[in-house]
Amino acid sequence: MSSIVLFGPPGAGKGTQATAIMEKTGLPQVSTGDMLRSALSKGTNLGLEAKGYMEAGDLVPDGLILSLIEERLKEEDAKNGVLFDGFPRTILQAESLAKITKVSMVISIEVPDDNIVERIVGRRMDSETGEIYHIKFKPAPSGISDRLIQRKDDTEETVRSRLNAYHSQTAPLADYYSNLGVLEKVNGNRNIIDVTNSILELLV
Ligand code: AMP
Repeated sequence: MSSIVLFGPPGAGKGTQATAIMEKTGLPQVSTGDMLRSALSKGTNLGLEAKGYMEAGDLVPDGLILSLIEERLKEEDAKNGVLFDGFPRTILQAESLAKITKVSMVISIEVPDDNIVERIVGRRMDSETGEIYHIKFKPAPSGISDRLIQRKDDTEETVRSRLNAYHSQTAPLADYYSNLGVLEKVNGNRNIIDVTNSILELLV
């Protein structure tokens, strides 16, 4: 079993690119952010514990994330590996992951900080399908505007905290995975389809 990691700052397009990678590899997407939001909306203990951190744009403590991942990887569909999206986000998470699964490739989607705020603040999700749109870069089809929601942490203020968390705690993982020889960098500052094509070329 070997897994792929989608890596990059918030708003780099990890979730958007995950779909094409899933289709190509058959690996299921494991997004810790989605799992936490689902726990939050169900009102579970995990959700309640994670809520304050998420709303502040801080990372949720490693222990909570790692138990979530351990449980997820026990599921049947994860037996051939998974596509991690938004995990690992700290060196400790990466080291713990190395003990439970092999990571064969880390795809780093690179986007400059200056572009992140505009990307995140304009992001909208279709509450029915989970599809992600952007008011400027990927407008939703007409007729579904009443279904579009904005993530609570997709505000300009919270984005700054998320970017700080990314630079101080997550960005060092690029060196960690580069030293392991599995890091692949992709310029994420292009239109969605070009980024997808570059990623698909890495997967052949
Ligand atoms: P995301 O949807 O990946 O942007 O994650 C949303 C929020 O969930 C983050 O800002 C963190 O508060 C939390 N989160 C998601 N994944 C992790 C992780 N691997 N480690 C710590 N916190 C996480």
